[in-house]
Amino acid sequence: MSKIKKHVSALGPEYSEKMKSRYAEKVKPSGKIYSKTDRRENRVTADLPAESLQEEKNKFAYQGGCLCGAVRFSISGKLRHVINCHCGQCLHTHGHYAAYTSVDKKEFQLVNDGGLKWFRSSNEARRGFCQECGASLFFERLGGCKISIAAGMLDSSKGLKTVEHIFVADKPDYYEIEDDLQKFSQYYNR
Ligand SMILES: [Zn+2]
Repeated sequence: MSKIKKHVSALGPEYSEKMKSRYAEKVKPSGKIYSKTDRRENRVTADLPAESLQEEKNKFAYQGGCLCGAVRFSISGKLRHVINCHCGQCLHTHGHYAAYTSVDKKEFQLVNDGGLKWFRSSNEARRGFCQECGASLFFERLGGCKISIAAGMLDSSKGLKTVEHIFVADKPDYYEIEDDLQKFSQYYNR
């Protein structure tokens, strides 16, 4: 099990001295006198990193993580709309019904898994949680190609909406489902 790396930021005069000496080693005046053409060429190449930076940003359409940040993830693909699950397992790990979105594992990337622990919740599935802050983040069918992500873990849920309820047969008495969304007594296969 991997331990969380504590980030100790080295600041202060010692740090800047170190950086200064590093900088001094790398950047030496070339003595070259730049012409107008050189400047134009520089400008063209200088534009490229900015573009690829934007591409990189677009590649990760969604980002998210747990309360403490020891689990962070990025999603490059399209997320499924949110489904509320009222099953007993979700109630017992989330403290209430669960709102899950889902994505193909190929389009899901863990950015920080320092706090991630998996709990084998049944013969068919496991649930991922943060062992530092206790957040319940993921649900995964063993051997499946999708990963379900608790929607509240997303930094932004732009474009997502809740579309239906599943396992309503297991719903406890203390709340009612009062919207008009489709309800399934158990799971459904789509
Ligand atoms: Zn955490």
